[in-house]
Amino acid sequence: MSCTPAQTLQRLHEQHLYRSRLTLDDATGVEAVIDGRRYLTFCSNDYLGLANHPALIRALQTAADSYGVGSGASHLVTGHKTPHHALEEELAAFTGRPRALLFSTGYMANIGAISALAGRGDTVFEDRLNHASLIDAGQLSGAAVKRYQHADMESLQRQLAGQPGETRLIASDGVFSMDGDIVPLPELARIARQHKAWLMIDDAHGLGVLGATGGGICEHDGVSAADVPVLVGTLGKAFGTFGAFVAGSEELIELLIQKARTYIYTTALPPAIAAATRASLKLVQTETWRRDHLRTLITRFRGGAQQLGLPIGDSITPIQPLIIGDSATALRAAELLRHHGILITAIRPPTVPDGTARLRITLSAAHSEDQIDRLLEQLNKAWLAVRSNGVDALHERTGS
Ligand SMILES: *Cc1c(COP(=O)(O)O)cnc(C)c1O
Repeated sequence: MSCTPAQTLQRLHEQHLYRSRLTLDDATGVEAVIDGRRYLTFCSNDYLGLANHPALIRALQTAADSYGVGSGASHLVTGHKTPHHALEEELAAFTGRPRALLFSTGYMANIGAISALAGRGDTVFEDRLNHASLIDAGQLSGAAVKRYQHADMESLQRQLAGQPGETRLIASDGVFSMDGDIVPLPELARIARQHKAWLMIDDAHGLGVLGATGGGICEHDGVSAADVPVLVGTLGKAFGTFGAFVAGSEELIELLIQKARTYIYTTALPPAIAAATRASLKLVQTETWRRDHLRTLITRFRGGAQQLGLPIGDSITPIQPLIIGDSATALRAAELLRHHGILITAIRPPTVPDGTARLRITLSAAHSEDQIDRLLEQLNKAWLAVRSNGVDALHERTGS
């Protein structure tokens, strides 16, 4: 018998997996106001602090004066405007690829690209910890989906060897969104070449952040455009705006225009957003101090966390997870931090594997070193509190 909605909701509550939204008022930069109280936030993806930049706001306003708010139609009808086209050309140049194609979201870019490249009779190989949009894309494509062990190139090789088949597409996050670690790209590219498989990298968290000019994981690892024929980027993270793109060869982009249903059957994103993203792209490339400052903050945070004995993951990116384990304890830790004016949401299954609920701490170039110190102090207090509570609860249960 199937569950009623009320039963399903009740079960989510019992498992500490119920999700609820916070309503933020006056969220500028790294501060947020909720119910009149001010918080320091460490959970947005605005890694370079560009979402509130005056140049982006001005570009958005100016473009809205000329192009209005809505694009009015899909790209293939009359929605494709001059700012979209200019942004696509600039994104192609930025990523060192012949062409780029804008999508309304990263979720749609992944579904559109995978479904256009693979279908029934083909195989898509995915890292176990890939973003949900890549996993969903594989499933929706109709291809067989093989999930290999996280960042485990031997596991991938074994699966490739067992699946000769038609088209084979390997899809992976560049920077893993919940752990912050980086895919072993040079080796992955070598394996893809050896097995004549397509390689698609979703660099949602690397573009803008990694590499000398913000070129992402490819620039960071010195991997050529030819080695990553399908590159996906999202614009709602380090770029501070909204939307996404796929970059690649002339033929790839033409194929997506013909075949990607999430490109064809949806309204083009507002042209003023594209104009704001053009302003952002300039800052991403020229204001290298943002990446330098971010790196300083990451080093400071990791050094401090190690000194305090906090169990943070192995990540050089702004994503610095503190793995707690069970969902109830992760929620409790987030609650304690919030009580002390620090906002970090607890990330729970199914977003992360069972037993790995965590505080997904993210750093931004908009943070100061003092704010990192404040974060460390409060994290340490929260960690000690939930850890000792956990031990107390265990003692109560065992009667010791
Ligand atoms: C955020 C994210 C997406 C989705 O991008 P949206 O533009 O927010 O839909 C896709 N892939 C990865 C790895 C992401 O982190």
